[in-house]
Amino acid sequence: MYVCGVTPYDVTHLGHAFSYVQFDALRRYLLSQGYAVKYVQNVTDIDDDMIMVSKRQGGRPIPEIRDENDAIFRNDLDRLNVLRPSAYPFATGHIPEIIETTAKLIECGHAYVVDGDVFFEAESFARYGRLNGVSLAELGKLENPESKRAHKKRGPLDFLLWQQVDPGDPSWESPWGPGRPGWSIECTAMSVRHLGQQIDIHGGGHDLIYPHHENEIAQAECAYGVEPFCGWWLHNGMLQLDGVKMSKSLGNLVLARNLMATYEPDHLRLYLLSNHLRSDANYHEGDLDALVGRYARLKNVSTREDAGPGVADGPVLRAFRDAMDADFDAPRALDVLDEAAHRLQSAPGHATSAAEIRAALATLGFAFAGARGPATGDLTP
Ligand SMILES: [Zn+2]
Repeated sequence: MYVCGVTPYDVTHLGHAFSYVQFDALRRYLLSQGYAVKYVQNVTDIDDDMIMVSKRQGGRPIPEIRDENDAIFRNDLDRLNVLRPSAYPFATGHIPEIIETTAKLIECGHAYVVDGDVFFEAESFARYGRLNGVSLAELGKLENPESKRAHKKRGPLDFLLWQQVDPGDPSWESPWGPGRPGWSIECTAMSVRHLGQQIDIHGGGHDLIYPHHENEIAQAECAYGVEPFCGWWLHNGMLQLDGVKMSKSLGNLVLARNLMATYEPDHLRLYLLSNHLRSDANYHEGDLDALVGRYARLKNVSTREDAGPGVADGPVLRAFRDAMDADFDAPRALDVLDEAAHRLQSAPGHATSAAEIRAALATLGFAFAGARGPATGDLTP
């Protein structure tokens, strides 16, 4: 399982927590069902934003900026009880793999060199656009952050695999001259390096479907001749604040760590998982307060003396699995547990139900229910 990670040029916000808690619950659920899961999440530690922040901070070294922001991000995820990735590769740690993949794509006729830049030729890959389910002409109408260097490209959808840099910017030696990687090639190089030429599940925000994930498919399938690159794509929705995209420039960032000063991390997990992975979520101040009663009930039930640690399999766990098996419907799964907790409160004494509720909540990663902690590393059974 490969999930696109962050570019650590700035603070991360509740939207990031939404994404990684969702994929954490998915990973934990797969583990609970007996699957071996190797979870890889990358760090984009060289790109336009990293360079911009470095310049803005008077030429501060990019690794310093990366390490500072990444440490805060990882600390937030640790507190949210998100299992640490099995591998956590940095783009700058995979330059040889990126160069090798780029060279392969030139060799097999899918990429071309123009004056120190290397482009992938989108039209050379018949399936380009398949993930989005649209034609090349329709793709051309979408907003594309890869529209730079239009005058050098053969086609408008062509994208950079390797790029020349401005004088003084970080660069690496390559067969095409000193430069740095394009955006999407890093994820292909890192997923192949850590998971092989085909992966089962690829996750990321739905804002990455085009062009990033479309590019990843083109790069991997053309470089290695294996199809499909990925069996299941899972794209999480965006988390907004009062219907508006969170962004630093709008000054409307909600930070998970600020919320964790008031609420327990599991309280945030309950809020985040009450939204379906693929749906956009809309956060309002007060949303967490609205969950206080629900949170207390689930916590009380799963910390009852008769709730564990023995795991009984019964109707509650079966209904829980039915919900999760139907498109990882965590909101529905939580409703199942709510209903069971209600029943237990109105007719106390059903110890089996309490054990089942506790086991299901542990599967979703709730620390109060005894879920395994973030530092347990690779949990492959
Ligand atoms: Zn990626």
